[in-house]
Order: sequence, then C-alpha cells, then structure tokens
Amino acid sequence: MKKRLLAIAISAIAAFPAFAEYPDKPITLVVPFAAGGPTDKVARDFAEAMRKQLGNVAIAVDNSGGAGGTLGAAKAARAANDGYTLLLHHVSMATSPALYRKLPYDTLNGFEYLGLINEVPMTVISKKTLPATNFAELRKWLEANASKTNLANAGIGSASHLCGLMLQNALKLEVQTIPYKGTAPAMTDLIGGQVDVMCDQTTNTTAQIEGDMVRAYAVTTQKRLKTPALAALPTLDESGLKGFNVSIWHGLFAPKGTPKAITDKLNAALKVALKDPAFVKSQEGLGAVIISDARVNGPEHKKFVEAEIQKWGAVIKAAGQTAE
Ligand code: ASP
Repeated sequence: MKKRLLAIAISAIAAFPAFAEYPDKPITLVVPFAAGGPTDKVARDFAEAMRKQLGNVAIAVDNSGGAGGTLGAAKAARAANDGYTLLLHHVSMATSPALYRKLPYDTLNGFEYLGLINEVPMTVISKKTLPATNFAELRKWLEANASKTNLANAGIGSASHLCGLMLQNALKLEVQTIPYKGTAPAMTDLIGGQVDVMCDQTTNTTAQIEGDMVRAYAVTTQKRLKTPALAALPTLDESGLKGFNVSIWHGLFAPKGTPKAITDKLNAALKVALKDPAFVKSQEGLGAVIISDARVNGPEHKKFVEAEIQKWGAVIKAAGQTAE
C-alpha cells in the first residue's frame, strides 16, 4: 500500500513539473551591451542582489551587444519562456521603435514586464587631450571642429546615441558617430584618444572621471548630482542648453509567455533586491537612483515604457532622425 501511494505521489510530481521549485538551475541574464560597461555594471550588481532572493541560484550575465541593444533584446525575446532567460535592458527599448524600420522583436507584446530597476543620469565627456576645459569651450571647439570630430556611442537607439543626437541637435551641428557594441570598448578608445567625445551613463563614467582618465563637462539631468565625484559638474541646462534633460532607465524583462507563477516570483525578488544594501550603495555611489514607486510592478513598468516610446519617438522625429 505504502509503495502504491509513493508511486502515485511520484507520478503526480512528474505530471506537474510546475511544482518543482523555481529556480532550480542557473538563470541567464541577457545584457544587450558589452561587458564592463554601464548596463553590465547595473546588471551584475542587480544579479547579485537577485541571487540572494532566488535561493542562491547562479545568474550568469550574457553580454550580447550590437545594433544599439536590439540584438540582445531579440535573443531574449526568442529564448524559451521558462524563467531561465531574462533580459536587463534600458531606454533603448523605447527609442528603437522610432529608429529601426523593422525590429526583430515586438517591444510591447514580445516580453513580460517584470519591473523597473533604476534611473541613471549621463555625462558629457571627452578624451584628455581635447583642449576644452569647460562646456563653453567644448561647444566652441565642436563648432570649429565638427567635420573632424568623432562621437562614440553604443549603436543606434542606445542611450549614448540618444544623448549624442540631442546634443548635436541642441548645438545645431553634425559630427561623425562611431558605433560600438557598448560604451565599455568606446571608453577604452576615448581614453586612448582614438575617439573624441562621448555621452555616457554615470555608472560607467564616475570611476573614469574620478581617476582623471577623461575630461568631464556636464551632466544631462536638470539638477546637479549629489555623488561626490560628480557634484561639481554643471548641468547642460545651466550651461546654455535650456531644457536639456536625459536620464535613462533600466528594467527587467522575460520572454512573452513566461508562467505567471514565475513572473510573480521574479517581481517579488526584484522588489526586495532593489532594497539590498550592497546594491543600493553601489548604485547610488555611481549616481543611479533606485526606483521606489509603482513602476517596480510589471503593469506600471509596461505603461511607463509605452509612454517612453511616445516621448522619445517625438524627440527623435523632431531631431529629424529617420529609421534605419
Ligand atoms: N552606455 C551604453 C549606451 O549607450 C550601454 C552600455 O554600453 O552598457 O546605451
């Protein structure tokens, strides 16, 4: 009798694999930009905080950079919807619909939205040998040297592309843009002097500014930052570009159709991870602001991205940028 009961119990477990505790194997977190860059930094800090909430399961970061983050997003959209592939992406989710004629995924319907993570300001920086020491001088230098200036970015649709586009638009000039798979390799070339200027998240630039590896001119948010390394930097708004305001966000996504029991568990883990002291300390030290409002929930995250698509679509159109 006991044996029969055991057999029934075993077959019941086999018939309902959902009863197996999720996660019971490593999770892959797709980061659609190069290793060592700003999105990668957020992702690795966040993965560590999430790991503690998910039974210490390994979370392996998969850097799939290229085409402004659209290649990595497509890879995640196509992955099995079993909770073992997730995507950590940023504002490119909202800029790419206006910049690509045909995206290899459906931004709003191809993913489960699991919650927003943080917002990150950007900084305008240059190679050390560029002869401008403040934004007014940089502006003059760019006006005089536009035709030979190289502006690095992480590809069309990336945050650095968006910021560079808005900067060129505000300054009414056009420079040569050099796309990379992320701003980590772009930073290497900026430090080496192969490219001239870049606009990049503080999660990548703070250490380089502190270490005096690059020149920093301004922050892209309307208010100055409180982070010690960046507090002295003026805003672009106060430097003459009235109304300039770019702050980018990161969010967590899963392939469409990932079971609700799993997305609920991931969302609950995300909410606790965002309060993880080590995560908060690391991110705030780099100028990031952790989300603490309703956008930590999937539906509000999705609504926010929908609004961002409208917002950036209009800005990109006004800047005269056409889709690739
Ligand atoms: N900073 C990049 C961007 O411009 C992203 C990255 O390289 O992580 O979007």
